[in-house]
Amino acid sequence: MSSTLSRSTRLIKNEIKSHLKIKKRSFSSKEIIQREKQYCAQNYHPLPVVLARGQGVYVWDVEGNKYLDFLSGYSANNFGHCHPKIVETLISQANTLHHTSRAFYNNILSDFAKKITEYFGYDRFLPMNTGVEACETAVKMSRKWGYMQKKIPKNEAKMLFATNNFWGRSIAACSSSTDPTCFEGYGPFLPGFQCIPYDDLTALDIAAQDPLVCGFMVEPIQGESGINVPSDGYLKGVRAICSKYNILWTADEVQTGMGRTGKRLAVDYEDVMPDILVLGKSLGGGVYPVSGCLANDNVMSVIKPGTHGSTFGGNPLASKLGMTTLDILQDENLAENSFKMGEIFRKELEDKINKKIAITVRGKGLFNAIVINRNYAKAWDICLKMKERGLLCKQTHDDIIRFVPPLVINEEQILESTDIIINVINGLK
Ligand code: PLP
Repeated sequence: MSSTLSRSTRLIKNEIKSHLKIKKRSFSSKEIIQREKQYCAQNYHPLPVVLARGQGVYVWDVEGNKYLDFLSGYSANNFGHCHPKIVETLISQANTLHHTSRAFYNNILSDFAKKITEYFGYDRFLPMNTGVEACETAVKMSRKWGYMQKKIPKNEAKMLFATNNFWGRSIAACSSSTDPTCFEGYGPFLPGFQCIPYDDLTALDIAAQDPLVCGFMVEPIQGESGINVPSDGYLKGVRAICSKYNILWTADEVQTGMGRTGKRLAVDYEDVMPDILVLGKSLGGGVYPVSGCLANDNVMSVIKPGTHGSTFGGNPLASKLGMTTLDILQDENLAENSFKMGEIFRKELEDKINKKIAITVRGKGLFNAIVINRNYAKAWDICLKMKERGLLCKQTHDDIIRFVPPLVINEEQILESTDIIINVINGLK
């Protein structure tokens, strides 16, 4: 008996030892990148940095190097890394009730829907998970509204989009894309989609006259295509044209919403209200995908039970996180901070950066970009240099670099970042 016991004790001890060994052995950045290249689909081309920890505006790689995060997980981390209120919500709600499906009611969704509709001024909220699902929901709602309210003949509705739009990777999103890297090889595409030039009210006015048009979906500032800020008055014009021709205007604020551009929403700059407002990304605080559409009764009522849905959308965990992120946005005045910090950021760059190399500095709030003169360097190579100096950012296309830090950033950290950016750019020959 005793020998059996000691044998099993030995076995357990050995197992613990080998477990500890595995625990102790940590892979280097190089090894992890190699493993990811071996085992993961190669659908991204990341900067060669392997992150292991984050706090506020900073992240650390596996070797312990510290960086300013100027991508914020593609704007999902507006509140920074590991915000204590978000982490606390995540843990406490996960310990209570995380998912139910909407086959049953849960005790949180109604609170979330009340809060988000009151905050943004709409009658109803339709919860989804990712940005692309919420945008697709807006397209479906627009088409259905077109048939039910505008009396467009069955299956003939047309949806308008802007050139250089980006709203995700589904077949519908690819079907409306003008970027070959997004759509090439994925045809056949969905019919009934038409692209008109961005920031062009005349083009919209002409296209909207077609009685088959049900809606127009547009980003108030185009993000992925390079922080394209439209002319002043564009959003007001879009509102007026959509009302004039009785078509639904959807503002895709998946990236620009939640304080990112220095206002609660980017449409607030022109004091206009879209018929459908789409939110996502940082609504889930960067820890869980939370998205959705807001609309008034005349639009939302076209969606009947069983005609649209999502397994996870509106679950208690998502709902509680959505409430927390809205609270943080307001309690910490993050839209105001984004506005102020963005002004300082752009002014520093405008004043000090070599304009022959960074030919344009543009953006609103903390949604900014520089355009690089291709004769000097590729945006990718500049991002590598910034990484070496302790700032993580990502290029879009060959010549644009986005700067999208968490909205909790302070002035000292903004100046730390502009120092790095200016030194790298001005140091290029
Ligand atoms: N809409 C906009 C404006 C976006 O920038 C994105 C993603 O970058 C999406 C929609 C899609 O969001 P998701 O990647 O969560 O599906």
